[in-house]
Amino acid sequence: MSAYKCFMCNKTIDVNYIKKKVRCIYCGSKILFKSRETATKVIAR
Ligand SMILES: [Zn+2]
Repeated sequence: MSAYKCFMCNKTIDVNYIKKKVRCIYCGSKILFKSRETATKVIAR
């Protein structure tokens, strides 16, 4: 399983939290990137 990291607060977010909405659960940032793979940014629209 992969996890995401918040671009703003740099906290790790479990992929389960962003299944519905791509958003940091800590600071509300919509810019996340995969922590495992090569910095793939996922930006919610
Ligand atoms: Zn955040």
